[in-house]
Amino acid sequence: MNSNITTLRLRRGKEESLDRFHPWVFSGALVAMPDNIDEGDLVYVETSDGRRIGTGHFQIGSIAVRMLTFGDEAIDDNFYRRRLEEALRLRQALGLIRPDNDAYRLVHGEGDFLPGLVVDVYGPTAVLQAHSPGMHFARDIIARQLVNLPDIDIHNVYYKSETTLPYKAHLDPQNQYIIGSAENDIATENGLRFRIDWLRGQKTGFFVDQRDNRSLLEHYSRGRKVLNMFCYTGGFSVYAMRGGAAQVTSVDSSAKAITLTDANIELNFPGDTRHKAVAEDAFKFLDNMDSNAYDLIILDPPAFAKHRSALRNALRGYQKLNAKAFEKISSGGIIFTFSCSQAVSKEQFRLAVFSAAAQTGRKVRILHQLTQPADHPVNIYHPEGEYLKGLILYVE
Ligand code: SAH
Repeated sequence: MNSNITTLRLRRGKEESLDRFHPWVFSGALVAMPDNIDEGDLVYVETSDGRRIGTGHFQIGSIAVRMLTFGDEAIDDNFYRRRLEEALRLRQALGLIRPDNDAYRLVHGEGDFLPGLVVDVYGPTAVLQAHSPGMHFARDIIARQLVNLPDIDIHNVYYKSETTLPYKAHLDPQNQYIIGSAENDIATENGLRFRIDWLRGQKTGFFVDQRDNRSLLEHYSRGRKVLNMFCYTGGFSVYAMRGGAAQVTSVDSSAKAITLTDANIELNFPGDTRHKAVAEDAFKFLDNMDSNAYDLIILDPPAFAKHRSALRNALRGYQKLNAKAFEKISSGGIIFTFSCSQAVSKEQFRLAVFSAAAQTGRKVRILHQLTQPADHPVNIYHPEGEYLKGLILYVE
């Protein structure tokens, strides 16, 4: 099968980052682009003097190759089985697969040596997202290997790549079940239950990446008046309720998100009157709310910078949003503030929050510095995989 793989040659000196196992080959690093390859094809990559570096998936764009191996492994069914089993072993070692926790990320792209692939597991269902044409074409193989994994029992694989694939016009990605069908759409996270809408929801239906930060929030919620901005499925709200919050308000501009949040509160705390959900723009809500109405505020907005070009506006957005929370929060209040923009660094985000604090003159201290959880591992050779950052702040 691997006999007709095209070899791409690097320009002189361009092997440096690959020799340090960085998994991307930029198009400018290649000598020439042969015209006999298609997006998603497997390619060998070699140095200018003919030393083979490894095998990857080719695609059109600034990242030309995503490396699958730096060895001489064949990229076949067994390759995917081995990689998925390694990924599973890590989640088992993390203690994430338990009767009271069946929602976790099984594959986090480069962080699991499978560039371009994301797999989130919700009980018996795996939701698979391809971010590269190569993974799109490998989806059936991957789905088969997922249901064959030892120790866990996945029997539905839903493929959801309409919004993640580049050049989708040529690939015709469909959101559909590859194996099985809808059955139980309730997943459990740390003993709390969530209805997951992978068919219509954002991303794979749930933000598993906030699990650890939600647990921290639970710890800080007792007796507090909690405001959960950008609540989506209400993850933080449900944890705040269990943590003994005096009251919880969830805000999202999407009416669908508010319906989901209400349903998830009802699922865990039926008839509990401490919670209310409001469909409104976050900036407007913060402008109109009374000062001192809340003493715990969560700010978890969508990525303000999807690309580097949007960086300046994004930083201004983070500053503006955080300043509104600093202006209104009670004395002795706590703010959980996040950025999931990959293009915004930890330092830049912290600077934006610092500027917001200085602008309002509040006395602010950093209690915790937060990041993504261990089932979203960062490949040490691929620092770009680090995207989620957060701060827990104490405001006098
Ligand atoms: N905190 C959530 C994830 C947030 S995702 C969790 O833990 O699961 C970001 C959410 O922000 C989305 O649900 C989106 O509908 C909402 N959103 C985007 N722009 C908004 C705005 N201007 N005001 C309020 N909500 C907004």
